[in-house]
Order: sequence, then C-alpha cells, then structure tokens
Amino acid sequence: MFQLRRTVYLDNNATTPVSKSVQKRMAQVLAHCYGNPSSLYQDARDAAMVLQESRETVARAINADPAEITFTGSATEANNNVLVCLAEHFAGKRGKIVSLPTEHASVLGTLDYLKTRGVAVEYCPVDDMGFARLDELEKLVDENTFLVCCMLANNETGVLQDVARVCELAHRKGALVLSDCVQALGKVPLDVGSLGIDYATYSAHKVHGPKGAGALYVKNGAPHLPFIHGGHQESGLRAGTESLHNIAGLACAFEDVPCLLKHAVTIQGLRDRLVAGLRNIKPDIAVNSPEQRCLPNTASVTFPGIANAVLMAELDYYGIAVSAGSACNTQSDEPSHVLAAIGLTPDQARQTVRFSLSDRTTARDVRYALRAVANIVSGKSPAIAMISPAQLDQKILFDPSTYILDVRFWYDRLAVKGLPGAHESSFPFISRYVGKLPRDRNILVVCQAGANAPMVAYYLRSKGFRRLSFLMAGMVGWKAARPDLYLAYAGRDIAVITP
Ligand code: PLP
Repeated sequence: MFQLRRTVYLDNNATTPVSKSVQKRMAQVLAHCYGNPSSLYQDARDAAMVLQESRETVARAINADPAEITFTGSATEANNNVLVCLAEHFAGKRGKIVSLPTEHASVLGTLDYLKTRGVAVEYCPVDDMGFARLDELEKLVDENTFLVCCMLANNETGVLQDVARVCELAHRKGALVLSDCVQALGKVPLDVGSLGIDYATYSAHKVHGPKGAGALYVKNGAPHLPFIHGGHQESGLRAGTESLHNIAGLACAFEDVPCLLKHAVTIQGLRDRLVAGLRNIKPDIAVNSPEQRCLPNTASVTFPGIANAVLMAELDYYGIAVSAGSACNTQSDEPSHVLAAIGLTPDQARQTVRFSLSDRTTARDVRYALRAVANIVSGKSPAIAMISPAQLDQKILFDPSTYILDVRFWYDRLAVKGLPGAHESSFPFISRYVGKLPRDRNILVVCQAGANAPMVAYYLRSKGFRRLSFLMAGMVGWKAARPDLYLAYAGRDIAVITP
C-alpha cells in the first residue's frame, strides 16, 4: 500500500533547511552578541570579532582574502551591487556588458535596468545543453566591454560553465567577470582565485544558512564603489549596522562547505537513480541537465503531455516539493528564460520540473518520489477536473452549485479583476479558511496564471473535498480567451472570505 504524506523535499536549489549548527550559532549570537560592531566597549569589540571571524571563514571557504569579502543582504543584492557600481565606474570609458541569457533574474533584471541608463547589453548564445558558445563570446567581447556575466552553475538545469575560459577571453579584452556562484557553492569545489573571477556572489540559504544573507567577493584591486551610502560599515561599501546573527549564520554555513562537498558523489548517485527511475516510468521524458559538467544534485526533466503546474500540485499532494522549470511568476505564465534559451518550446517548458537534491536526501526519498510519479503517470492519483479558459462560460460562472475560490494576491487582483461572485482568500493562507469552504458545492479554484490553483485544489483534495476543479492558465488566460465575458462580468459581486 502506497504510504501517503511523507515529506520529501526535492527543491534544494530554491532554498535549503537551516542546519542545526547554523541555528545554534545564530541563537548564540542573538543571545550574547548584541553589541554594535562599530562601538568601542567590550560588547562591541566582541561583535566586531564575530564579524571579522565570519569574514575569515567565508574567505577560507572560497580561497579568498578576508579583505575581498563584503557581506550583503542577499545574492540578489550582491549581483545588483556589482552591475550598478561597475556601470557607474566605467561610464564614459566603456559602455557594454556581455551576459549569458541563462543568468539568474537578479542579473537579467538589473541588466534591463542598466539598458534604460544607456548601457549596451549583448547576450552570448548557449548551446542546446545551456553551455556558453565560447566562439560567440569571443566575438561579442570587445574593447568597449567592461563586464562579462557568466554564472558558474545554472539554478534550473545545473549546467556548469567553463568560467576559467570565460575569464581568459574577457581579460584579454580588458573586461572584468562577474560569476554568480550561488548554486555552485557546496556542490562543486570552488576556488575563485584559480578560476580568475573578478566578482563572485553567494547566498547563505542555498547551503543550509539563513535567508537574507549574502556575500560578495571582489578581487583585490578590482573596482568597487559604495552601494549603500551613509556609514562606514563594510569598508564604506555597504552602510548600515551589520546583521551580525545572519552574518555569523552565513559563515557557519560556509564552514560546513567541505562537508557538503563530501556528499556530492552520494547525491549524484541518488539523482541518477531518480532520473533512471523516471525514465522507466515514462520513457519519453527529456532530461535537460547534461550528463557531464553539471551540478550533482540537479535534474531538469520534461514530462511530455503533463503540465508542470499539475504535476507539482499532485506531487505536493504526496508531500513532495519540487519546482517548475518555468518561472513561478504569479503575474504571467511566461515560460522559463533558461529553458527557452536551450531551445525548449513554451509548451515543453511548461511541462518541465526541476528536482534538486541535497545531502539530506535519502534513497527512501527517491523511492517514494518515484512511486508518487508512477501513480500520477498511470492515473492512479485522484484526478481533479481542469477547466480551460475557453470553457469557462456563463453556464459554469452562474451555476448556483459553483463556488469560485480566488486564491490570488491583492496585487494580482489589481492587475486583473476577479470572476463574478468569486470568494477571495490568498494562496498562502488557504489553510486558515478551509473550514469556511462548502463541501456540497463544486469549488472552482482560480489563480492569476495557473500555477497556484492546482496546488490549492490538491491541498483541498487532501483535506477531504471531492467536488473540485481548477482553472488552467488562471485569470490572465481567461481574460485573454474570453475578453467579452471579462468586460461584461469581471469584478462583480466579489466576496472576501473572513476567518
Ligand atoms: N543567483 C542564483 C543562481 C540563484 O539561484 C539565486 C536564488 O534563487 C540567487 C542568485 C538569489 O539569491 P538570494 O535569494 O540570496 O537573493
């Protein structure tokens, strides 16, 4: 008998659980180290010591000099910091950045911003596995280029770029290199010095550290301007009293990196077993992660004919956490830019799921996940009716037995009005409102772009609800498919569910 509702966490590229040692260290610092590192008395000196020791620990983990480390509030901030500061530094001297199209949103979004400030941005194509086309990169990097952005490991597919070669090519033309090392840390050996990287960014929460803590490596001598003004902290580069407990937690997580690396072979074995098992269950899957030069923990897998929003919801029903290959953007159902760059069609991208394992993943977890997928693929899982946007007409909307449950966020509702007669309760709070939902009506769950509604529908199924359906492609899809109905009825008679 298939045991329901084990919890199996296979989304470690999104974030990782905080380790016991990090929790202990952070609690210690919070309890005993409240001094402001900038003050002069003993408590402050203790705090300043924690700060310095943390910097040394982080530097050791990546083979850098402590003076090359700046603590930030996240890797997103660190990526923003490098891009914006260098654009300012090189203004009037060099005006171009070359980037991979598969970089993290924190790089791509900042590049979009810099384009509005007059910086030229060009993208180096990647091949169908996601590796940078170095011949093309060589052509794109010229004397006007001040920066090349090339992440070490991709968060969606796990592809490892040849950053050492990229550095060589860039340096030959006098350009600097920013390498987002967030996903590589703790999964592959990382020595910033020997790779030749000028700027590297890190995030604590991907290696069992706290969220809201990042680190920026700036090679000695590389230009770096203040990013947050109004204080001397972090050598005047990032003003503001240091978040000491987060920094100590980050350092503690970095200290455990050698231990994480020791698990890489085991993790890869489990990942390979998972992929082989998936191929057995559904021979037509496509694996988008390369066999060589890939993170040991990551498998991006396309399941032809199965929408990833539904697969994720069904896996969640079994207590299994995975991410979509496509962006989990609540505003639109734009397919993932990474999968698009490696040549997947929008439909293939919307059938893609990322499994990311960690040192905590066990063989039992993998077996459980495979049994759940087998159940889903063979149709043994409870099926929930899917309503297409075109299908959702007046008959369903105004049927007295229909109860429309709108699980969008307030800002989504500002962008697209709700279905007539909808009952509103935002997605994360659904467990608070379960008791208010009718069991004798057909609950139609709707969200903004189609990702959250299946999750909620399967959650309700696990709570014993039987009369359920969800709207595919969400309100964005319905507005596009039925503009006539949207104009006539959207936003009418909305009710807010109160606890
Ligand atoms: N870069 C990559 C490759 C990531 O995977 C992430 C997190 O998803 C980030 C940057 C952003 O990290 P943070 O959450 O610390 O802002």
